[in-house]
Amino acid sequence: MAPNWADVKQLLANRVDARDFTTWIEPMAVDNLDDEQISLVAPNKFVSDWFQEHYADFVRDILFELTSRNIRLTVTVDGNAGKRQLSFLSEPIVEKAPDRDADRNKKVARNRFVSDNYQLNPKYTFARFVVGGSNQFAHAASISVAKKPGMAFNPLFLYGGTGLGKTHLLHGVGHYLLSQEKSPQVILMTSERFTNELIQAIQQGHINAFRKKFRKIGALLIDDIQFLAGKERTQEEFFHTFNELYESGAQIVLTSDRPPNQIDRLEDRLRSRFGWGLIADIQPAELETRLAILNDLAREASTNLPSDAAMFLAENFQSNIRELEGAFIRVSAYASLNGVDINVDMARRVLRTLIGDVDNPVGIDDIQREVCEYFRVKLPDLLGSRKMRNIALPRQIGGYLARELTDASFPEIGHKFGGRDHTTIIHAHRKIAEMRRKDPALDRSIADIQQRLRRSLG
Ligand code: ADP
Ligand code: MG
Repeated sequence: MAPNWADVKQLLANRVDARDFTTWIEPMAVDNLDDEQISLVAPNKFVSDWFQEHYADFVRDILFELTSRNIRLTVTVDGNAGKRQLSFLSEPIVEKAPDRDADRNKKVARNRFVSDNYQLNPKYTFARFVVGGSNQFAHAASISVAKKPGMAFNPLFLYGGTGLGKTHLLHGVGHYLLSQEKSPQVILMTSERFTNELIQAIQQGHINAFRKKFRKIGALLIDDIQFLAGKERTQEEFFHTFNELYESGAQIVLTSDRPPNQIDRLEDRLRSRFGWGLIADIQPAELETRLAILNDLAREASTNLPSDAAMFLAENFQSNIRELEGAFIRVSAYASLNGVDINVDMARRVLRTLIGDVDNPVGIDDIQREVCEYFRVKLPDLLGSRKMRNIALPRQIGGYLARELTDASFPEIGHKFGGRDHTTIIHAHRKIAEMRRKDPALDRSIADIQQRLRRSLG
């Protein structure tokens, strides 16, 4: 059985930045995929070149992981695909969505979905959202704005870490609104896309058409609003759009990876508006919720997932549902490609590069080696006492990772980090944990180092 492109895409989504995913991977269509080769179709040469340069290897790797075969990859260009998919790079703004997915959405809903090409993900409905303590509040708030758009809370601001269901709930609101007999017009887009369309409108002198598009809609659903940070012109335009919609009673829903007061370089007037309605957070899902999500996935895929294997997955992927899903897809793809049943041993083997190997645990010296390499610091400096930031920060990250990834106690770690006191390591651990939450770039660096460690030990 050949793998399918949706699975590959899902795995890619775990590995590339969300924005890059939307821009470069989402627009790729698959023409043919079998166990020999994959032919992808790019909407234009620009995307094709970029994709080949940056993502082709990822795709090959994933296909190799899924099939244990080297699958040939070709990319061709189809201009029509571009018109359909990448309007913000290649086309002037259009008013209404072409009815490509007529059969998917209800007839009444079709013309109401003004977002040109940004599709509602059919999987992201309320019905398929598993509710648990961690997301109950955000879920209830989403339902109430969907039921009473413009009346319950306006705006609704949903925030939480990566892969915890913000986009899912946002689309859920969209689906719900569109399923109503008299559904309002809905625009759902990422803030990146808002920015891109605006830039394009300015360049092409279509700014009025751009503004008009947002008039008279009943709901504006913007994903990942944090990307407006630092974009002054976009913020200005968004401010006016927001005011106009707010005054006309349209429902606004925004998602973000952090609360408004932690978005840097955001105009105060927007920051305060974001808090006018209700701010709801989503926390990492509890074990029971993760298990329930796995159960749903297994049922959906008609895959038999024994409960000990489900527990193994749920325990190893705690902080991000997207990764949990990715792990499930991998395991079930492996099982079906090889015609075997899922069990814990097999899951452990298939996911070894993601979760580390119990037979080959990470040691503090492995961590020190990777940290040195990553930050280009010499080991004696890392273990020494120099306090410059470019050495002290890697040192603290090393201490943090040692605590996170090994069984070593704080005193043991201190000992291995040049004989430091355990309180120094406790402090470093707390500090880095805190910084990780606030600084996405740092968070990504640490995730990168972890990834390298797994690879080097895998
Ligand atoms: P975010 O936007 O917060 O990064 P997403 O909404 O994209 O996260 O969710 C990541 C994946 O996890 C999606 O496939 C989504 O359907 C799934 N997911 C997240 N939370 C839940 C949940 N409570 N129930 C079912 N699926 C969920
Ligand atoms: Mg999202």
